[in-house]
Amino acid sequence: MTSRAAVTFPETAEERDRWILSRRPARNPVHAYEPYAFFTEEECGPSGNAEPVATIFLTNRECPFRCTMCDLWKNTLLASVPSDAISAQLDFAFRRLPAAQTVKLYNSGSFFDPRAIPPGDYLEIAGRLQKFERVIVECHPAFVGDACTRFRGLLPGRLEVAMGLETAHPAVLQKLNKRMTLEQFTAAADFLRKNDIDLRVFILVQPPFLAASDALEWAIRSLDFARDCGATAATLIPTRGGNGAMEDLSQAGLFKPPSLDVLERAFEHGLRQRGMRTFADLWELPNRGACEQCFPQRLSRLRAMNLRQEPLPAIVCDVCRQAGCGA
Ligand code: SF4
Ligand SMILES: [Zn+2]
Repeated sequence: MTSRAAVTFPETAEERDRWILSRRPARNPVHAYEPYAFFTEEECGPSGNAEPVATIFLTNRECPFRCTMCDLWKNTLLASVPSDAISAQLDFAFRRLPAAQTVKLYNSGSFFDPRAIPPGDYLEIAGRLQKFERVIVECHPAFVGDACTRFRGLLPGRLEVAMGLETAHPAVLQKLNKRMTLEQFTAAADFLRKNDIDLRVFILVQPPFLAASDALEWAIRSLDFARDCGATAATLIPTRGGNGAMEDLSQAGLFKPPSLDVLERAFEHGLRQRGMRTFADLWELPNRGACEQCFPQRLSRLRAMNLRQEPLPAIVCDVCRQAGCGA
């Protein structure tokens, strides 16, 4: 029997910020003139066809929020980047990446945070994006506003903004310390829709403070919430540890990473609904709840479902069935 450490998660946002910051491990060394990662991935586009997507993780100043589960700050800087750095990062990546018609620019925070991506650089940045049919950036709802329409006006292709809903569970969302309500999320989604900007939504599968037994229901309710907000795409992210805070919450029984089974069932639900592409984030997905024999097959199935946007027959595994893993 494992003992649970006594953890008191603070009540106020300011105390939570301090609590979360005090548990952080070291950040990684990153450079203002180089993206910290870039690659091409296949994704099912709005037309229903799999297409290459140039994906660039920009290095920039850390996000001002302190979300309980966030580990994106690990690859950020403490100061804003110089005014030519983001364009230089794009040049660095585009020189090395094959051609694509869609580009994701993920900056571990909000693209429209003026201290992250200098607004004075929009013209220069957009100049590097003229050949793309779709540009996807990420942003907290608090930074969704006129900067989005200004940037959109500089692009010949479509702009898509990815926002982290995380969960439609109001009490859990509050404890995630994102400083956002469901109403604020909906208002930002409305703004994007009225300005002809597409919306992608990030959803956490089994966030902290949510019982494992409720995880599937709330992943489904979050997908439905995203669809009601007019999202054209949603990504299910299995919640992970690794930022210090999550390890303490895990010790206290307030966080447990989701099993593969929950991710599979939530993903299947998303794919059965029409009008919104649904993706499962399989980036370094650890094996939770599946045996060594079926895990590679289950991962291949999820990859195929990402590309085809339809549920595929479940992998039947005798080993897991006998062990009661739910496969
Ligand atoms: S808003 Fe996003 S990047 Fe910022 S702390 Fe929260 S999860 Fe991390
Ligand atoms: Zn198995």
